[in-house]
Amino acid sequence: MKSRTKVVVIGGGIAGCSTLYHLTQEGWTDVVLVERDELTSGTTWHSAAQVTNFGMTQTMVGLKTHSINLYKELAEDPDYPINYHHGDGGIRLANTEAQMQGYRHFASMARGMGVHFEVIDAAECARRHPLISTDNLLGGLWDPLDGDIDPAQLCQALARRARAAGAEVYRHTPVTDLTQHRDDTWTVQTEKGDIDCDIVVNACGYRVNEVGAMMGVQHPVASMEHQYFVTEEIAAIRDAGHRMPLLRCPISDYYCRQERNGLLLGFYEQGCKTWGMDGIDPKFSNALCPDDLHRVTDVLEGAFARMPALMEAGIHTIVNGPITYTIDGAPLVGPIPGKRNSFCIIGLRAGLGEGGGHGWLLAQQIVQGEACYDTWVIDPRRFTGHANVELTALKAIEDYQNEFRFHFPHEHRPAGRPAKTTPLTPVLAAEGAEFTVVNGWERVDYIRPTPDFHHAPGYAFDGVFDLVASDVAHLQDHVGLCEVSGFNRIEITGADRHRFLNRMACGRVQTRPGRVGLSYLLNHQGGIKAEATIANLPASHCGADRVWYGSAAASEYHDMDWLAQHLDPGEDVQLRSLTNDQTILVLAGPGARDVLSACARGDWSAQAFPWLSLRECHVGIAPATVMGVSFSGELAYEIHVPNAALYAAYLALREAGRAFGLRLFGARAVDSMRMEKGFLHWKADLLTEFDPFETGLERFVALDKGDFIGKAALLRRHAEGPRARLVSLRIDADHAPAWPGGSLMLGDAVVGTVTSGDWGHRVGMNLAYAFVRPDLAQPGTTMQLDLCGTRVGAKVIPPCPYDPLGARMRG
Ligand SMILES: Cc1cc2nc3c(=O)[nH]c(=O)nc-3n(C[C@H](O)[C@H](O)[C@H](O)COP(=O)(O)OP(=O)(O)OC[C@H]3O[C@@H](n4cnc5c(N)ncnc54)[C@H](O)[C@@H]3O)c2cc1C
Repeated sequence: MKSRTKVVVIGGGIAGCSTLYHLTQEGWTDVVLVERDELTSGTTWHSAAQVTNFGMTQTMVGLKTHSINLYKELAEDPDYPINYHHGDGGIRLANTEAQMQGYRHFASMARGMGVHFEVIDAAECARRHPLISTDNLLGGLWDPLDGDIDPAQLCQALARRARAAGAEVYRHTPVTDLTQHRDDTWTVQTEKGDIDCDIVVNACGYRVNEVGAMMGVQHPVASMEHQYFVTEEIAAIRDAGHRMPLLRCPISDYYCRQERNGLLLGFYEQGCKTWGMDGIDPKFSNALCPDDLHRVTDVLEGAFARMPALMEAGIHTIVNGPITYTIDGAPLVGPIPGKRNSFCIIGLRAGLGEGGGHGWLLAQQIVQGEACYDTWVIDPRRFTGHANVELTALKAIEDYQNEFRFHFPHEHRPAGRPAKTTPLTPVLAAEGAEFTVVNGWERVDYIRPTPDFHHAPGYAFDGVFDLVASDVAHLQDHVGLCEVSGFNRIEITGADRHRFLNRMACGRVQTRPGRVGLSYLLNHQGGIKAEATIANLPASHCGADRVWYGSAAASEYHDMDWLAQHLDPGEDVQLRSLTNDQTILVLAGPGARDVLSACARGDWSAQAFPWLSLRECHVGIAPATVMGVSFSGELAYEIHVPNAALYAAYLALREAGRAFGLRLFGARAVDSMRMEKGFLHWKADLLTEFDPFETGLERFVALDKGDFIGKAALLRRHAEGPRARLVSLRIDADHAPAWPGGSLMLGDAVVGTVTSGDWGHRVGMNLAYAFVRPDLAQPGTTMQLDLCGTRVGAKVIPPCPYDPLGARMRG
């Protein structure tokens, strides 16, 4: 066994084997995998091992496509062929029009990744899967490449190729402890000796938190018991003359695929069970949980109704095993927050289908620092302080019970809420607030007009449309107040703080005390890593000169890691998170200055406090830091208040606002208004794949300012020319917004992808942002949007259709 290597991957299931193989593909061959027992002895060996292409984001579709292509190549390797039923096809059923709309959107989105799903009616479903009944069925999504694979052979094939490239695999080598040294390297202690390495990867399946504990981390991963059974031979299958496609049924919560001449059926019962929450028997290896078919009888009845042939089939084998879940159902693949040189590939609940792709994207992140797609949807840092295993278990149960019922836009399910609140949450709830969830924070989405107001989320404009229209109209003429909970804030102190920030940002960083600026941080490939408001707080009774680095709520761990990783030794810079201590109240609209003047001393005129200014003051009796910035396009103030004084500030603003018609508004109105201003959202429109020139942010780049992170790569990319350009579009439809991922078309060719969309009430237009082919970025260019299966016109317009000169924001 080696005593030193570059990377130690812990765990020899599909996650670990795929990572090891892809590290060698990236050119790192001095790498090792350690497995406590035999390869695949965790969950992988007993997986139903269906391999599908369906995903709800382009990243998921892309990584699954990689799995499929890789598995096909492995299956055809004459030296070690493996069993892979590729291309049996698969159907996701639907019995509601809303689900069908969702499928049409996912088909539009997948088209941009070169993947062709078909939305078919009930009769066509039955034609392609002759065993199903069309009762209570509208249709489904056809995925032509679905199939299934032998999981043990797959892992052996990956390990075999990795070994051939120079990697080593140590079986029966349990990891017993992990020690990180001052230089961030690791010692991996195993029962067979120690291995020193630069980087560790946790790929330990349901034992994720045993190994997490060795590095002082609790990963938000919980396991559920999951059962399938395999039937005896079914004559209709034997005689069909072709293999049966896979089936996923959100109506009766089961899946099935062909196994020999019978079927394999897996169930997602309502009475589901978490597993291993109080610890896992060390001897549980190559093992299963006891059968419990009684638990799935509710689902079985639905399966029998959908597939009457099942009633005559005997049960051959029952499998009940642990399967891991995260808070949002997607795995955690990437850097472990707060720990350098450590990565994870955990929480895989469809690991056979996805594992090839996850290992691919993880290896790129380890070796190159970034993957070819933006990987935020699987990034472990997307969950922060609220993400403990108890919350995860609640979300896992909810997710399991709704396995094939995808989330609709603006749908936030109730389990594990509220996780993060401010002192105002109950106050705003009493005012009728409907909340959305942002990084665990409850955030006002809109104010319900009546206590029993309800709208069913879907893909068309819904009942909230008119509420937003009314809020925006009110804001345009009067004044509104909105709480922004959980905004990420890092206080940066020390004499070198601006030098440090200038190295991190691609533009000139605002350094004047009392002033605020917007900056973009790039990765080493020149793509956009972060967006930050840099606010310079002058020395006061609150502290010495300091910077508040503000960014999206979800970026809390991500941005802190990125900044901390780039501190130079000896640099006088200190970073401190204030995210959980302060909350923003946004006062917006032409009446905002009057309201602020009525409750905070001082001169708030445009001359005394111009746009992009900052001032410490009191709002009523509440200490506050006020910034003159606007995301709505109206005159606006961000009022940053310590949480202990938040209610006091709120009362003062409400009281002062009474005379000016102050009214509450929420995130839905903000989202609509920012679309009219050309303002972008991190991880919707600002993606690692695209650089600031491609994203239309050239005014925030200063190539002449000296070196900054990503500059060399940016110059190279700039010289090569853009691969795409972000544009604003006017969509020729009034029934639905453009949804992220939707494909823009010229004839049959995909020429762009939507990143955001919403109705702009002040300009009366259906608006979208999209990355399009660079030659199509000129205003006036027309194309078509595949909007949930319907082609509608889309025209490039100037980036800021509302008040382009910003006169209203400056007040
Ligand atoms: C019944 C069932 C059906 C499923 N069907 C499908 C399906 O159809 N399609 C699909 O895509 N997915 C399916 N899944 C999910 C899929 O099987 C899992 O997502 C996948 O196998 C997880 O692989 P993994 O490598 O993350 O974990 P595991 O396979 O559990 O591998 C983790 C490895 O880490 C090792 N390990 C743990 N601790 C240590 C330590 N201290 N030192 C060294 N090694 C350690 C373990 O021994 C184990 O081998 C199914 C799961 C179940 C339970």
